[in-house]
Amino acid sequence: MTALPAFDTHDVLNQPPALEDFNLFTTDRALVDAVAAMGAATATDRLGAYGARLGRAETIEAGRLAHRYPPELKTFDRFGHRVDQVEFHPAWHQIMDLIVGEGLHSAPWFEPGPGAHTVRAAAYIMHAQVEPGSQCPTTMTYGSVPALRGQGGLAEAVLAKVGTRSYDPRDIPVADKAGALVGMGMTEKQGGSDVRSNTTVAVPVAGAGTGAEYLLTGHKWFFSCPQIDAHLVLAQAPGGLSCFLVPRWLPDRTRNRVRIQRLKNKVGNRSNASSEVEFQNAHGWLLGEEGRGIPTILEMGTFTRLDCALGSAGLLRGAVAQALHHAGHRRAFQRHLIDQPLMTNVVADLAIESEAASLLALRLARAFDERAAGSAEAGAFVRLCTPAVKYWVCKRAPAGVVEAMEVLGGNGYVDEGPLGLLYKEIPLNSIWEGSGNVMCLDVLRALQKAPDSLDVYLYEIADARGADRRLDAALRSLEAALARKQDMEHGARRLVEHMMLVLQGALLVRHAPAAVADAFCASRLGGDWGHALGTLPSGVDARAIAERARPS
Ligand SMILES: Cc1cc2nc3c(=O)[nH]c(=O)nc-3n(C[C@H](O)[C@H](O)[C@H](O)COP(=O)(O)OP(=O)(O)OC[C@H]3O[C@@H](n4cnc5c(N)ncnc54)[C@H](O)[C@@H]3O)c2cc1C
Repeated sequence: MTALPAFDTHDVLNQPPALEDFNLFTTDRALVDAVAAMGAATATDRLGAYGARLGRAETIEAGRLAHRYPPELKTFDRFGHRVDQVEFHPAWHQIMDLIVGEGLHSAPWFEPGPGAHTVRAAAYIMHAQVEPGSQCPTTMTYGSVPALRGQGGLAEAVLAKVGTRSYDPRDIPVADKAGALVGMGMTEKQGGSDVRSNTTVAVPVAGAGTGAEYLLTGHKWFFSCPQIDAHLVLAQAPGGLSCFLVPRWLPDRTRNRVRIQRLKNKVGNRSNASSEVEFQNAHGWLLGEEGRGIPTILEMGTFTRLDCALGSAGLLRGAVAQALHHAGHRRAFQRHLIDQPLMTNVVADLAIESEAASLLALRLARAFDERAAGSAEAGAFVRLCTPAVKYWVCKRAPAGVVEAMEVLGGNGYVDEGPLGLLYKEIPLNSIWEGSGNVMCLDVLRALQKAPDSLDVYLYEIADARGADRRLDAALRSLEAALARKQDMEHGARRLVEHMMLVLQGALLVRHAPAAVADAFCASRLGGDWGHALGTLPSGVDARAIAERARPS
């Protein structure tokens, strides 16, 4: 030990370096391989460039600051004018500039091409690891495009700005802006899942119908990103529940009468502003037909649900990368933690969960590309698997993030570190955009109303038949469960879980290294597993699995 200057009591020893100035893409071999497996390898350089930008120390610091200093509501200006503005830390704008500049809010629509949704999906997984709050306006904008297309008028004006890669936070009419973002307003106090209970009323100004102007009166209990340029809002029109485009600024250059009551004090997702609003004769333009509001906004929900799965896969990967980084540097009882056999088991089990989540979510994203290219089979896959993948990835990821936190010991639970942000964010994807039960019931609805979707799902698994006896056995028992058709609602979670484990197994057997696929099949399908993570059976190559997932 060197001599210490006066007042210094000790050297800091055995603390790992911060995981920063690294490439989130090239150091994530599971993601690199999944991108290639999903046919998007040509985007490797672009994804590598984004992964490098995200991994810079200053980007990670901006993500931390955006959460440390959450937005504040500014209802009035200093002269007493009502302004309903939200003030953000500069770090929020820095992160928004990054994500919009990468086109994650709209590029697959405006710069289409083979694999456009898949490439975006891989970038989305990476972004979640650094600053997930900015993904709220990003995903809502991405999902809004199909609902806005072909609607003419104001919708076209908004779309023209959504299609740029410019982030423009100025609170001015959309016509004057370089870029625009779009949100959604469905949830009211009396119901979020059951939107038919919406009480907000829309009255035609001068004649009803598609593209017509209405006045909206009522409220939304959750209304994220109230500062952005427009929202798709559900309200009861004379012809039933309908979807309206409600801009922040009106064509006459006055502010629309959407009053922000307060911002939500959320557990996590703190960088992002979520609000309660009231519509006081707010102006909205009808999208689609009166009474067809749910199908109009549901298409938006299909995309945001994909993003929930991608986001949770990303948050899990972020936590697992931190865990592996820590375990690779920290020593206890004369060894690096990663070399302690029980810790090897824990981090390998986490790595398997993370790889299975990323691969499953990317497979779903590829189906969005195939659907966009006109494949009816892919459309059926999207219908059945979007709620199923959203349910499963978002349900599994929190357990992984909590376990990863424990790998860091006490440091994991201190909010200065990156695990706190990931931990507080991780429950959210399972709650919004259709909570767990609602997703499982939607899977049942797809099975009943679109039975061809099950054929497409089974066809996907068929390619992996014969590769692993535990996968084959799990598929046989799944087919028996699907045939029973008893007590379907009561057992919906188990059925969806079973379907997704089999799909994950089939994907891993085909696309992942043998060690990962074998350990997945042994534990998740063969049942040779405990009730907590870190309970992989003997005989699996835990060391190789852990090494593959290390972010270095
Ligand atoms: C941070 C945050 C931001 C949000 N931003 C927005 C936004 O911008 N726009 C927006 O519209 N909404 C937003 N939401 C709202 C969110 O989408 C809803 O909270 C969610 O859809 C659930 O609705 P709810 O809260 O009314 O719960 P409920 O609908 O009351 O559901 C409560 C529970 O009951 C379950 N459940 C419901 N129906 C059934 C059934 N038939 N069988 C079994 N179980 C059932 C659900 O799965 C859930 O677990 C946001 C929420 C959060 C937390």
